[in-house]
Amino acid sequence: MLMTKQRRPAIRTLPGWAINVLKEAGAIRECEEHGWMQDRADPHAREWAFDIARRDLPEGVSREAAEAAVRDVLDSIGDICPECPPDEEDRR
Ligand SMILES: [Zn+2]
Repeated sequence: MLMTKQRRPAIRTLPGWAINVLKEAGAIRECEEHGWMQDRADPHAREWAFDIARRDLPEGVSREAAEAAVRDVLDSIGDICPECPPDEEDRR
């Protein structure tokens, strides 16, 4: 098969990169059961995420674009997993 085996870019998409940065900083976490990202609403972790984002810019991406991507991800992520029953979260 001639599916071109392209060099896999380290980061496939800017939002994917932003999610990684936020995960690394602990600003978001993944629901263990359902895999949804959840915003941990931790201002320090967010700041750290922006720090990482600025230091670890993907190739060809401006600092502004990188910061915007991180912000976009934060905006699009809720603070609860949409599939977890709310009372189950409370029991922990
Ligand atoms: Zn869940």
